[in-house]
Amino acid sequence: MKNILEMFLMSNLKQLEEENLLTYLKVISSPQGPWVDIGDRRLLNLSSNNYLGFNTHPLMIKSAIEATEKLGVGSGAVRTIAGTLQLHMELEKELAHFKQVESTLVFQSGYATNLGIIQALLTENDVIVSDSLNHASIIDGARLSRAKILVYQHTDMENLEEKLVEARNLKPGKVLLVTDGVFSMDGDIAPLPEIVKLADSFEAILMVDDAHSSGVLGRNGRGSIDHFNLHGRVDIQVGTLSKALGTMGGYVASSGLLVNYLIQRGRPMLFSTSHPPGVVAATITAVKILKSPEGEHLINTLWENTTYYKGRLAIMGFNTGISQTPIIPIIIGEASLAREFSQKLFQEGVFAQSITFPTVPRGKARLRTIVTATHSRDDLDFALNKMETVGKKLGII
Ligand SMILES: *Cc1c(COP(=O)(O)O)cnc(C)c1O
Repeated sequence: MKNILEMFLMSNLKQLEEENLLTYLKVISSPQGPWVDIGDRRLLNLSSNNYLGFNTHPLMIKSAIEATEKLGVGSGAVRTIAGTLQLHMELEKELAHFKQVESTLVFQSGYATNLGIIQALLTENDVIVSDSLNHASIIDGARLSRAKILVYQHTDMENLEEKLVEARNLKPGKVLLVTDGVFSMDGDIAPLPEIVKLADSFEAILMVDDAHSSGVLGRNGRGSIDHFNLHGRVDIQVGTLSKALGTMGGYVASSGLLVNYLIQRGRPMLFSTSHPPGVVAATITAVKILKSPEGEHLINTLWENTTYYKGRLAIMGFNTGISQTPIIPIIIGEASLAREFSQKLFQEGVFAQSITFPTVPRGKARLRTIVTATHSRDDLDFALNKMETVGKKLGII
């Protein structure tokens, strides 16, 4: 390997190692369920986004197999050339109906959706006003657009208003106000009723990224806009198919006009191949299940589990921060202690990944745990008992 490259890589990795920030991949050999196999261990899984157990839902697997047998394993092209299958259109129609919007457009991932939208809509003459804890894909999209970025303190409405004033004073072409619906590392919900009002009064375009609210919040998991009953008040909704919906992909839910524009200008749409038939068919089934009594039941169980688990953690004295959803961080602070806690739990049979800088700010390291509808009470008790023992041993509680 060329010397310059090798030195660059080694010095960077060494620094990460010294700061206890090196990531090691955990390799799973079982289905993504409430328990997973890693190496020769069977572990209780508190680290996945598989909120409703859809990753292994039999009806979704069946849909994927049938579509694959009928249509093949790949789509063959980007959407705008020869990669738009009837199934893609069917999924988009299903999602539009579910989200109660005029139109939706599916991208290869939630990440690609945010990049595609923000880059296509904004230019260097525009301003983006963004929550300080917004997802990395929003930040990356904002950077690609070359618009000026103003960051407001997390969910601080006074500070948001100040930034909107600042944005207005810059006399930009457009202002985009963008927030996560549910924040991915803290599990709190954006104060959308206030945000909608501010967006209206400053004539800012409002975009809400509902990756962690899809399938979790609102009626049948319709998301944060439905949760607050703000239909028609948010210009651009983003959802992911990769979390509660159990497959892979992202989508924008908005007007037909916006969707048509993104077909022309959304770069992931133009330059990256579309979903294979199996994934699309499984996702259509996922949306149908969400709308059914089974979906409702799973979401209820998810929330019951959340209340139970969070309640017991609080009684034990763990700091779960400002979580309001099934994303439940156990905030530790020091990266090395968070890692040690995670490693010791792993030895005890609990898979709860530690999350450190750059995914969360320095000094805010945590275990980020997510309960799912498929965890039984016994599963949760197993995890909680181990957390109590190990947490005490390490002086965390
Ligand atoms: C996970 C996540 C994404 C990315 O979604 P993928 O489908 O995994 O690419 C985007 N935004 C937020 C807020 C997320 O939590």
